[in-house]
Parts: sequence; C-alpha cells; structure tokens
Amino acid sequence: MKFFLDLCTKCGKCVPYCPSFQLFKSEYHSPRARVFFAKKEVRAKNFDTCLLCGRCESVCPNEVSFPSFYIKLIEKEDTSRVKDFLIKRVSQNPLELLPKKKTYQKDWIRPALPDSEVVVFFSCGLKSVYPEVLKKLKKVFDTLEVDWGVAEEVVCCGAYMLNLGDVSALKQQALKNLEVLEKFQGKVAVFCATCYWILKKVYPLIFEGTEFESRFKSLSQRIISGVSYFLNFLEKTELEPIINRKGLIFHLPCHLTEETKFVKNKLSIKEFCCGSPKLSLLLKGFQLNFKRVWQKYLIGVETLATFCTGCYLNFKFLTKHPPEIKHWLEVI
Ligand code: SF4
Ligand code: SF4
Repeated sequence: MKFFLDLCTKCGKCVPYCPSFQLFKSEYHSPRARVFFAKKEVRAKNFDTCLLCGRCESVCPNEVSFPSFYIKLIEKEDTSRVKDFLIKRVSQNPLELLPKKKTYQKDWIRPALPDSEVVVFFSCGLKSVYPEVLKKLKKVFDTLEVDWGVAEEVVCCGAYMLNLGDVSALKQQALKNLEVLEKFQGKVAVFCATCYWILKKVYPLIFEGTEFESRFKSLSQRIISGVSYFLNFLEKTELEPIINRKGLIFHLPCHLTEETKFVKNKLSIKEFCCGSPKLSLLLKGFQLNFKRVWQKYLIGVETLATFCTGCYLNFKFLTKHPPEIKHWLEVI
C-alpha cells in the first residue's frame, strides 16, 4: 500500500475533483494532502472528511487510490459497535426501515437460473426505493433479447457498514453474496453505482491475501453496470423525445465515472457528487452544506434521474420538489 501511495507525484490533478476540497476550499481536505499524511504514516483528521467517492483515483494519472488505503485503515481501526445489531436485524435490506419505503410485486421479478446470461443484483434500491425499475428491466432485456433473471437471495451489498466503519460486518455480507452469486454463471448487472463499486472493487480489496481472494476477483470480473443496457436500449428504441425533454437531467454518480465515455453526447449528463450518505458527516451537516456546490445544476430542472440508491436518497432528503427524483430507468 505504501508503494502504491509513493506513486503520487503531488501533481494536484485530483484536488479540484474532490468533494471535500470543493466544500472547504482548503488543500488540507484534498486527496493530495491525505496521501501526503498517509505516506508519512500519520493518521490525520482530514481522512474523516473523505467520502470514499473515488473521484480522485478516477482522474489520477498514476492510479493512486486514497480510498483503497482508507478502507484498509478503517478495517484496522474497526471501532464500530453496531455490527451485531446490523447483522442480526437489518443486514438483508436496511432500507426496509425507511418511513416511506416502496414495495415491489412478486410478478415483476423473473428469477435467475444458473445459466442465465445476465443476473440482476437485487439491491436494496430495487427492493425498496425504486422497485418500478424492475418492470422496466423486463422491457429493456426483452427488447435486447437478453436471457436474464434476478438473483433474489442476495442481501444488501453492505455499503452502509463501510460508512459506519464496520469492515468485519461488510465481510460477512460479502460472503453471503458470494455464496448466492456463485450459483450463477452469467454476468451480474448492477443498477446502483454504490453496489457496483462495492461488488467490483471493495470486496476484492478487503479479501486480499485471504483464501477468498481469487473467488472475489472472479466475481468482480462478472460485475457490469446496468448503464450499458440502458444505452443499448436507447439505440434500439425511439426514446429521443422522452430522454431529451426539457427539464430532465441524468445524474452520473461518482462510482460510475468510468462510464462517462459511454454516456457523454448521448444524454444530458451532469456529473457531480451528491455529498454521500456517510452517517458521520451527515451528523456534522456536511451534506447540507455541500448542497451549495451542486445546486447550480438543478436550476430549471424538473426531473433529476440518478443511478445510485445513496444519491437518490440524498437528493430526496436535501431537495424540495421540484425536481422530482427518479432512477434512470424510471424516466423511460
Ligand atoms: S494522487 Fe494522483 S492526481 Fe493526486 S496529486 Fe497524487 S499523483 Fe496527482
Ligand atoms: S475518495 Fe473522494 S472525498 Fe476521498 S479523497 Fe478521493 S475525491 Fe476526495
């Protein structure tokens, strides 16, 4: 990890992309400063204002990843005392606790088979926040003539456990999901940016050097973002007037920035950090203040479509109607 951080040349390219720098306007809250302290083996306070959004690593010419270092550090510190409560009570789907949770109908789900070409990761968002997307999935996959199904038994990816600093709870979630997803051979399509990041990058990282490493790496190679299906569907149908309607913007969440090349020029994309639902920062009012940074993008916007459960909830919590908050697949 130290070698990895040593690749930082202090060029500063990451600095303006970092949400905490954007808010505090201070180099101390930048990725470059965090890497500087990490290399010196100093546990600095600015680590705590890192949202784990990954924007720094996606623009870094040397692929330096402060989030990877920080996750390893969280694992070492692992001070959370919430593990038992979470694992026993809400580890299946923490969003069931939402006061206005939505529900899906059983007949919207087509169960995956071991040889299904595409297996949909049944995220908490699909279950309780934007279940209508399940109905749209049928239309999308049938139009694309893809043999698909939903992995019904998966549990929450565990992102909120990481936010609470409980990596051992996250590991338990990961093992449950590994067991379920290994029953299938197909690609695993994910319709939430945070789940995508957790399954693709974080699971292999936290199991590095363990007996499970190769299994999580194989799983990671099967994880794909649902954005590509959305775009293929657009090309096969006549949705131009719908997706280009005035007042609609497509929000590209941080953990999908790698998809930018596929979506630019195809949709009215706005790429910005929502401020993350990190609980420790929520209690300090970070997200409310951070709204100053992105609210300029919402002038005249009637519908904001996002691709992430965390962003969806954050926007719902921080904005008043309009805009109406939707998932990308809800607007087609
Ligand atoms: S982390 Fe990467 S982008 Fe940031 S200062 Fe170092 S080398 Fe440059
Ligand atoms: S992960 Fe996000 S918040 Fe953390 S240092 Fe990188 S850009 Fe900044």
